[in-house]
Amino acid sequence: MSKYDVIVLGSGPGGYVTAIRASQLGFKTAVVEKENLGGVCLNWGCIPTKALLKSAQVFEYLKHASDYGLSVGEYDKDFEAVVKRSRGVAEGMSKGVQFLMKKNKIDVIEGFGKLQKGKKVLVTAKDGSTTEYSADNIIIATGARSRELPSLPQDGKKVIGYREAMTLPEQPKKMIVVGSGAIGIEFAYFYNSMGTEVTVVEYLPNIVPVEDEEVSKQLERSFKKSGIKVMTSAEVTKVDTAGEGVKATVKTAKGEQVLEADIILSAVGIKTNIEGIGLEDVGIATDRDKILVNDFYETNIPGYYAIGDVTPGQALAHVASAEGILCVEKIKGMHVEALDYGNIPGCTYCTPEIASVGLTEKKAIEAGYEIKVGKFPFSASGKAKASGNADGFVKVIFDAKYGEWLGCHMIGAGVTDMIAEAVVARKLETTGHEVLKAVHPHPTMSEAVMEAVAAAYDEVIHL
Ligand SMILES: Cc1cc2nc3c(=O)[nH]c(=O)nc-3n(C[C@H](O)[C@H](O)[C@H](O)COP(=O)(O)OP(=O)(O)OC[C@H]3O[C@@H](n4cnc5c(N)ncnc54)[C@H](O)[C@@H]3O)c2cc1C
Repeated sequence: MSKYDVIVLGSGPGGYVTAIRASQLGFKTAVVEKENLGGVCLNWGCIPTKALLKSAQVFEYLKHASDYGLSVGEYDKDFEAVVKRSRGVAEGMSKGVQFLMKKNKIDVIEGFGKLQKGKKVLVTAKDGSTTEYSADNIIIATGARSRELPSLPQDGKKVIGYREAMTLPEQPKKMIVVGSGAIGIEFAYFYNSMGTEVTVVEYLPNIVPVEDEEVSKQLERSFKKSGIKVMTSAEVTKVDTAGEGVKATVKTAKGEQVLEADIILSAVGIKTNIEGIGLEDVGIATDRDKILVNDFYETNIPGYYAIGDVTPGQALAHVASAEGILCVEKIKGMHVEALDYGNIPGCTYCTPEIASVGLTEKKAIEAGYEIKVGKFPFSASGKAKASGNADGFVKVIFDAKYGEWLGCHMIGAGVTDMIAEAVVARKLETTGHEVLKAVHPHPTMSEAVMEAVAAAYDEVIHL
C-alpha cells in the first residue's frame, strides 16, 4: 500500500492548492480526483463563466460601438462558438493544474475516493478496480454541486443547473433564472446580452441579497434598463415541463402568476459532496450539510481534515484555497493565524460588476456601530466617463469612533479588481485618514475609493 504524508480528496481550488502548499512544505503528497483536475472552479464555475461573460461584454461593446465614435459594420454572435471558447478556456486551465501537479511532484490518483478508518483512502478507478492508500493526514476537499429544490427538480433539459447552463447546445429564447446570488445573476446577464429574454425570480426582497441594499437596488435598475425582468419577494412553487417549453408558477404578495419559458435555470445554492465518501464509517461529524472543523480545519477525528465548499465558510474559490494553505501550514507546525471570515471579498461578474468586503450598512448598524458612510458615484469619475462606464458607485463604511474600515461596497466596471485594496487595508487595520493620504493614480476607477473615503470624512473633492 502506498503511504503518503498528505492525501487530498478532490482537486478543486481547495484541493490542488492544498496539495501544492503541502508539497512545498516537504510533504509526500497525493491528490485523488474522480473527474477533472481543477474542480468546479476551473471546469464548471469561476473560469468558464468568466469566459462566457467576456464574450457577452465584447458583444455589448459591439452593440454600443457608435457611442465610441466607431462603426463596425455587420456583426453577430455565434452562440455555439461562445460556448466552445469557454470550454476551451476551462480545458486549458485544467491542463495547467496537471502541469502544476507534475512540477510539484504530486501524485494524481484518478478515481472515486472513500475514507477508511485508520487514515486510509480506498480509491475506485473508472474500470472498477480498487486500491487502498494511507496517509498521516487526509484532507477532504470534495466540494459541492447544484442544489435541487423539491419544487424545482432538475431534469437537465428544461430545468437545469449551472453545468447545463454553460454548455447548452442552443440558445434559449426565453429563460427564467431562479435565485439571484452570484451564479444566477451572472447567467442572467450573460443570456440577456446574448439576446435571450430573461426573468430573474428571487425569494428575498432584494436581488444579490447578501450585498448592501444600495448595491442591490442599483443592480436592479441596471438590469431593468438592459431588459432583464426582475421579480423579488417571489417564489417558484411549481413547474410544469409537459408540452413545448416550461411553465413556472410564481407566488408573490399580489398572488400567483404563471411564467412561460424554454428553460428554467435553478441557481438556488449548493449541496455539498459528502455522501458515499466514508464520513459515517470514520465517524466524522457533519451539521446542516457541512463537515464540522476547528479553526485549522481538523475534523472531530484526528488526522482527518476538511476544507473548501464542504465546510461552513463562504463557498468561494479563494476561501477554499486559503483554508487549504492554512490547514497544511498548521499540520507542518507553523505558527499561523486563523482565517478572518469577516474579511473575505465577494464578487459578481455581471455588468456592472459588484465587489464587496466587510459589513453592509445595515449589518454595521445592527452590530451596534456608530458609523460614517461615504459614497462616490462613478458618474463623477473622469476615468469612468472616458471609458463610457459611469454606472455605479463606491460606498465605504467606517466606525465613527475609532476609524475602523467596516465595509466597502462597489458596483461598476472593473470593481472586482479594485476590492483587494479594501481587503489589504482592512487586514492592516488602516483607518480612513490613512487611505485618504495614500495617493491614488489619476485617472483610474480606483480614485473613487479614495473619494468615497473622503466623502465619509466630509473631505470629498469631486462632488
Ligand atoms: C457557476 C459557478 C461560478 C462560480 N464563480 C465563482 C467565482 O467567480 N469566484 C469564486 O470565488 N467562486 C466561484 N464559484 C464557487 C467556486 O467554484 C467554489 O467555491 C470552489 O470551486 C470550491 O472549491 P473546492 O475545492 O472546495 O471544491 P470543488 O471545486 O467543487 O472541487 C471538488 C473536487 O472534488 C472532486 N471529488 C468530489 N468527490 C470526490 C471523491 N469522492 N473522490 C475524488 N474526487 C472527488 C470533484 O470531482 C471536484 O473536482 C462558482 C461556482 C459556480 C458553480
